[in-house]
Order: sequence, then C-alpha cells, then structure tokens
Amino acid sequence: MDLGLEGKVVLITGGSKGIGEAITRTFMAEGARVANINRSTAEGEALEAEYAAQGQQCLFIQGDLTNLDACKQAVEKTLNVFGRIDVLVNNAGVNDGISLSDGPEAFIGSLERNLIHYYAMAHYALDALKQSQGAIINISSKVAATGQGGTSGYAASKGGINGLTREWALDLAADNIRVNTVVPAETWTPLYAELIEQSEDPSAAKRQIEDIIPLGQRFTTSQEIADMVVFLSSQRSLHTTGQIHYVDGGYTHLDRKYTSGSNRVDLSK
Ligand code: NAP
Repeated sequence: MDLGLEGKVVLITGGSKGIGEAITRTFMAEGARVANINRSTAEGEALEAEYAAQGQQCLFIQGDLTNLDACKQAVEKTLNVFGRIDVLVNNAGVNDGISLSDGPEAFIGSLERNLIHYYAMAHYALDALKQSQGAIINISSKVAATGQGGTSGYAASKGGINGLTREWALDLAADNIRVNTVVPAETWTPLYAELIEQSEDPSAAKRQIEDIIPLGQRFTTSQEIADMVVFLSSQRSLHTTGQIHYVDGGYTHLDRKYTSGSNRVDLSK
C-alpha cells in the first residue's frame, strides 16, 4: 500500500525515545522528512546523523516544550529548513503522578508538561497545516478513560487532548485538516522496561500486567502505535477525523472477566 508520505514533512514532539522514536523511524521508512523537537539531545542528534548518512533528513531541534518560545521556534525552524509542515504529531508527555494532594501549582506544572504544548504546537503550526491541508495526530492515554489514581494532572491533560481532538476536527474540517488521536494503554518502551526492572520481582510484575491485556496477553509494541499514527497521517486515511483510536489489545474496553489470562471465565462449559 502506498501511503503517499514520500517527501512529506512531519513535525513530532518527543520523537527521540520510546513511542516517539518508533513514530519517527516509521515516517522515515516511508520517505518522509522529520523534524523532531526533544528536550534531551543525545538520541535526537544520533537519529539525525544516522539518517543523514543515508541521505535522509531527520532534523533534531533541541527544546523543552514547557517553554512556549521553544514550541514557536520549533515550528519556525521546521519551516525554515523544509518550507512546509504536512503532519504534526503531538507525542511528548509524562505520567508525572501529580495528585489531588499536590496542590494547584503542581497541577498547572503537569498541564504544562502534558497538555499546553499540544495546543501551542497546533496553534503555531496552524497556518502551515492550512497550506498543506495536513493532519494532526495526538497521543493520549487510557488514563483519560480509566483513571489511575494519584495522577490528576496527567489524567486531566489526556482528557483535554481527547476533547481537543473533537474540537479541532470540527474547527479545521473546512480547511481539510484532519485531527485524530491514538491512545496507548500498556506499550513496551525502554522507560517502561526500566520501571518494571525497579520492582522486586520484575518478571512477575510484567506477567501481572500482561495477564490483563486481552489480545495475546502481551504489551502493545511501540511499532504498533507508530503504524497507526503513520496510517492516520497518510493519503489512505483521508476520510477519518475527530476519532480516538485505542491501540491497546482491548485493554481499555473489553470485559476482563472473559479475557484475562489466569482469571478467565470460560462460558463454553
Ligand atoms: P518516553 O519513553 O518517556 O518518551 C517521551 C519522549 O518525549 C522523550 O524523548 C522525552 O525527552 C520527550 N519529552 C517529554 N517531555 C518533554 C518536554 N517537556 N520537552 C521536550 N521533550 C519532551 O515516553 P513514551 O512512553 O514513549 O510516551 C510517549 C507518549 O505516549 C506520551 O504522551 C505518553 O503519555 C503516551 N503514553 C504512553 C504509554 C506507554 O505505555 N508507554 C501509555 C499511555 C500513554 P527526554 O528524553 O528529554 O525526557
């Protein structure tokens, strides 16, 4: 299937690691040109060098997205280098555990880490997206639908992202800009592996999570998230907008009574 992404320009936030890295690499494999704004430098610079050696452009832009000037400059730099933006992928975020007891200042800080830059990036990229009749893909989290406990800022941010997806889809339909969200639940990344490693019995902790993932009792891969993002951005997805797509092996919505490994209720007997 030709996704029609050859030469398209993709601006991604947090494209150096984890899910973002998989998204960056998948767009690159489709022949797109990528601009990646990320806070840490090593991985982003390494990606830029790796693709430059193959004659491809994977521009690294250092910046902290909690700084609005950095968001604006990332859009400006992308336009200076590539002259256009076809796809904006709002991906960067962190489940920072800011709870009800942490207070309003901490809550606002969490919104700055997880929500405000999604709006800022879309705002600053808007004229370019209107010109290209492009697409916005937001990365949300199942926490917006399920809650988690102890993470008010992250839950509010991800709920806000889902709301903005519908709002922007409507706002921008007349400009032929499509807006969709992809929702991971339990997606395996180096950071997730690190967190599991910190538990007393890492393989038991991993198994416990896998057990309640209906499809295949396994984590979603970053590649599976990236594939959905890239498809939704593509010319093969031109009539899909305002949708919230759960790529989670059924984790968020399926009834675990019938699906979870060791606790499965078998109605066939
Ligand atoms: P990750 O491995 O921590 O990667 C996040 C990337 O974003 C890192 O490269 C990070 O850069 C960058 N970043 C974060 N905050 C930034 C900021 N303020 N400015 C610039 N760059 C920033 O996380 P991930 O698991 O891939 O998560 C990606 C998205 O998926 C997030 O929106 C997350 O909420 C969502 N998600 C993930 C899961 C999962 O199971 N993995 C589940 C639900 C939702 P640094 O290296 O500088 O930190």
